[in-house]
Amino acid sequence: MTPARRADLSDKDLSGLMTFVTERGGCVLTATSVWEVARFTGPGGVCIIYRNANGDLKWNQRAADSWEAWKAGRAWRATPRTKRGPRKRRIKYENLTARDGHDCFYCGKPVSFEEFSIEHLVSLTHGGPDNLTNMAVTHRGCNATAGHLSVVEKVRLAEQTKGLAQ
Ligand SMILES: [Zn+2]
Repeated sequence: MTPARRADLSDKDLSGLMTFVTERGGCVLTATSVWEVARFTGPGGVCIIYRNANGDLKWNQRAADSWEAWKAGRAWRATPRTKRGPRKRRIKYENLTARDGHDCFYCGKPVSFEEFSIEHLVSLTHGGPDNLTNMAVTHRGCNATAGHLSVVEKVRLAEQTKGLAQ
């Protein structure tokens, strides 16, 4: 339970909570009114603790969650540790190279994770499915060159460039 009155929230607890928050990616913000006891960033938005005229403490849900997590020793982070996008990209890269090898669909040269781009053989704008059966490993540059082609033209281009490379 969060402290219900200002007198119940010691300075020691408050600074302990702020340490907990800042160590986990939160920022302590400047109070916007004299009623605010603390304002800081948390997952999804701003956490606010303020007191009303009776000296009662009010916690918005995010602030209360941070207190509960701190007191219970639960995991809490103000910002996600890893973004979803790069991790999904890594998984696609691993799956595609396990299936097809590391060679670019177009030029036949090895593709590193940094250079990796997903080629949708039938483009998404033409109704191609967003799953592995419709994907190939390419360099970013090779993909950009071929992006506008039809699937037949893509395969033809791949055969040509690979033939020239040999
Ligand atoms: Zn390439």
